[in-house]
Amino acid sequence: MKITNILEKSVPLKSNVSNAVINFSTHTVSLVALVTDQVRNGKPVIGLSFNSIGRYAQSGIIAQRMAPRLLAAKPESLLQDNGQLSAEKVLSCAMQNEKPGGHGDRAHAASGLELAVWDLNAKLNDEPVSALIARHFGRTHYSPKVSVYAAGGYYYPGEQTGRLEQEFSGYRDLGFDRFKMKIGGATLAEDMARIERALTIAGVGKKLAVDANGRFSLEQATAYGEAMQGYDLLWYEEAGDPLDFELNALLAKEYKGALATGENLFSRQDVKNLALFGGARPDLDIFQMDPGLCYGVTEYARMLTELESRGFDRKFCYPHSGQLLGLHMVAGLGLGGCEVYPGIFQPMGGFGDSTKIEQGVVNVSEAAGFGFEEKANLRAEFAALVG
Ligand code: MG
Repeated sequence: MKITNILEKSVPLKSNVSNAVINFSTHTVSLVALVTDQVRNGKPVIGLSFNSIGRYAQSGIIAQRMAPRLLAAKPESLLQDNGQLSAEKVLSCAMQNEKPGGHGDRAHAASGLELAVWDLNAKLNDEPVSALIARHFGRTHYSPKVSVYAAGGYYYPGEQTGRLEQEFSGYRDLGFDRFKMKIGGATLAEDMARIERALTIAGVGKKLAVDANGRFSLEQATAYGEAMQGYDLLWYEEAGDPLDFELNALLAKEYKGALATGENLFSRQDVKNLALFGGARPDLDIFQMDPGLCYGVTEYARMLTELESRGFDRKFCYPHSGQLLGLHMVAGLGLGGCEVYPGIFQPMGGFGDSTKIEQGVVNVSEAAGFGFEEKANLRAEFAALVG
């Protein structure tokens, strides 16, 4: 089989919300389609994907560097033994003549391409990507049930009193029982008041996580940690700069609860550094690397190997981003769970239109591939891409 065309389109993310550092109103995402010479029901089989949420479309890198390399490669050089495309070989080809290190935008571009291979192969096999991933990596236990939590609690322009409680009670009505909110976009006193308000819905601290999006200095991170210690929160996410492993390690000495980080680490080597120098505590701290941003499943699996070789458990991995890509990773690789952003970050955010959340658990659909076709607004965007 061979790739006959690679299509990419930048799509705006429909969200005017802010965390402590950025506003999402101008954000975009790359939709990717790998068109092949395989035909099912009279149509070419096309692998679809996108590069997660939160890091912009990567049209230039895909169109000018990676797609030409893949289209110029000998078709058989990209195949695995069963004759299907190899995600690992596709990634390796896309990364030809790229220097090591500096894992930024190109990691997101490569993710879009690599993940489209998984969608393609799962469609050829008529199975969900999660089942394909489980088999590929030799997982002996596969369950389509995924633990999810509702992420939200952003800062909204002109926010009214009671909005946060309304938002979280809406999530509770949808079937969520754990929540995450932003901190660091207001004063410490205002944020503690927001946490108190969120707790009126969450009930107990262990049902509420907070996320500073890398905003704090060590002093600020420690002050927030001290102020929040008594709440016994689910976790305290990205207190400082994602690459400031010293800050994380020093905070871990002071803050007794779980710390979470990793959504802005895009390579195995970065994760190794976090494990070595970030003070991460096995069976407590949370890792949030996002396969949709870190070169895809191939590199994500290397990250898991790195963590497990250092005594960490994959059940403490909760991929960032809240979309179908992450859902399939969690089920396929046996991770702890993932976030969801109900109603925001459309059309990529969330799962299939008929997906039910029951007591914080979602069942991965049996649809072939990632199941993008079961999400009407995303299906329409992909239809516009492939024509
Ligand atoms: Mg986060």
